Amino acid sequence: MLKIDNLHVRVAGRDILKGLSLDVAPGQVHAIMGPNGAGKSTLANVLAGRDGYDIVEGAVTFGGQDLLSQEPEERAAAGVFLAFQYPVEIPGVNNTYFLRSALNAQRKARGEPELDSMQFLKLVREKLAVLHLKDELLHRGVNEGFSGGEKKRNEIFQLAVLEPKLAILDETDSGLDIDALRNVADGVNALRSPDRAFLVITHYQRLLDYIKPDVVHVLADGRIVESGGPELALELEQHGYSWVADRKAPEA
Ligand code: ADP
Ligand code: MG
Ligand code: MG
Repeated sequence: MLKIDNLHVRVAGRDILKGLSLDVAPGQVHAIMGPNGAGKSTLANVLAGRDGYDIVEGAVTFGGQDLLSQEPEERAAAGVFLAFQYPVEIPGVNNTYFLRSALNAQRKARGEPELDSMQFLKLVREKLAVLHLKDELLHRGVNEGFSGGEKKRNEIFQLAVLEPKLAILDETDSGLDIDALRNVADGVNALRSPDRAFLVITHYQRLLDYIKPDVVHVLADGRIVESGGPELALELEQHGYSWVADRKAPEA
């Protein structure tokens, strides 16, 4: 589904990703862990198509299509979803309205009919039920005055409505108390499906107590330096990230 091959990315003149390769199959959950500054958010932003990232070398395909040549909107329509570490507030723009516009833009780009407000409301009700959410978030401005936990819940709700093929969560767990963390994890688990993959980026192992990844990768200094099963996350928890410093892939 997602294939990243020898990706080199420069940010503000500095090499940040230095030959990163990754293969994600439909239905899988891959966790990306690594120290601060390793390039985790850079990877997420490059996949979503944000500005300011210089692709120096390498290729990324998504469903067999060249992802890097696509505009962010095309990527979203193709099914790539990025939940931000710090979700933006859009005061005065109704959350439901915002989400319907986003969904319809994607449907239009795919050549699918847009949903009218009744159809959208039906979809929203279904998703709220799946996630065991109340509708209180729907009528407020986008993330306006939301608590940390509410913002994360809203991201999961966005994910549920947009039904992406690949969901990238960049430190969705940062700053959450244990109840909010469980909420997020329950949401992700409810949305796991054989045709949807997750890239769960996290600095801490605790989220992975609740979201069981199929594969855990350690990203350090711009490369994947170690991959393994869920037990790798526990080893990291015990030994810390300094432990991977000794295991860095040799200079090419
Ligand atoms: P992580 O998410 O793993 O903590 P990032 O991908 O955010 O790491 O950052 C990797 C490195 O790239 C850091 O050294 C960071 O300072 C640098 N960096 C990221 N974005 C920018 C930017 N817009 N301008 C300059 N440097 C950046
Ligand atoms: Mg960081
Ligand atoms: Mg980051």
